Amino acid sequence: MENIKRCPFLKIQVCGYCSLFPLKKMIPVDQMKTKSMCLSGEYQQCTQYGEATSKETAENPAYPAVVMEKDVKGFIIRKNYFYHYGHTWVKQDGENKVKIGIDGFASKLLSSIKHVEFISGTNILNSGKAFMHVQCGGKTGTLMSPVDGTIVAINRSLGKDAGIVNREPYDNGWLLAAAVSSNSMKWLLNDALAGQWMEIEAERLHSIVRQDIGITMTDGGIMIESLASVINEEEWKPLMRAFLLNE
Ligand code: SF4
Repeated sequence: MENIKRCPFLKIQVCGYCSLFPLKKMIPVDQMKTKSMCLSGEYQQCTQYGEATSKETAENPAYPAVVMEKDVKGFIIRKNYFYHYGHTWVKQDGENKVKIGIDGFASKLLSSIKHVEFISGTNILNSGKAFMHVQCGGKTGTLMSPVDGTIVAINRSLGKDAGIVNREPYDNGWLLAAAVSSNSMKWLLNDALAGQWMEIEAERLHSIVRQDIGITMTDGGIMIESLASVINEEEWKPLMRAFLLNE
């Protein structure tokens, strides 16, 4: 970029704009009013926001991903994804192709992921069978495949930055892509059912951590993020069995 010549009159400015308006009115970031509705928790009262979110259309490119999310007791569920009881998700990504990742619950339970390792030897996925080890907080968790299928791609960026699985579990933190049969998703939970299940999982986590480990979690979405590093191996393994279905 340094070597590119450009007119001295050209100014480069970072701007913000509302992606819902057909005509983009650019507002330089340094001139944005911090008290505006767009920059506060009051954005949900905006008429434009209300109209857009009432449509619930994922096809609308202006539709912000965050609107497609639901916070269930501190754990994020993303709409239009399918969920496996081992806390992995599956998202359609073309005909008979899917992407696979971990859900909002696992992204917190397996906090501060340092390294991910695909279980080598085969590119075949079997539903309910281990396909990946994850290292976090000095502990290891194993992920179970949510579907039967064949691995067609893995997310290479995880080799450089495995922490993106925690930061963006439903987006750039995907784990692998697979070819699957058309009925491979029929055993998975849709987002509505996953929301109900996640409430039960949150309660179950609180109960196990309180009764078996002796820690009181005031908020499952906050305290859980330090669990891996503060509990010992004997306390960690039952959690992996209970929630990631580890053997
Ligand atoms: S608050 Fe309203 S105007 Fe502002 S960015 Fe959101 S939808 Fe657009």
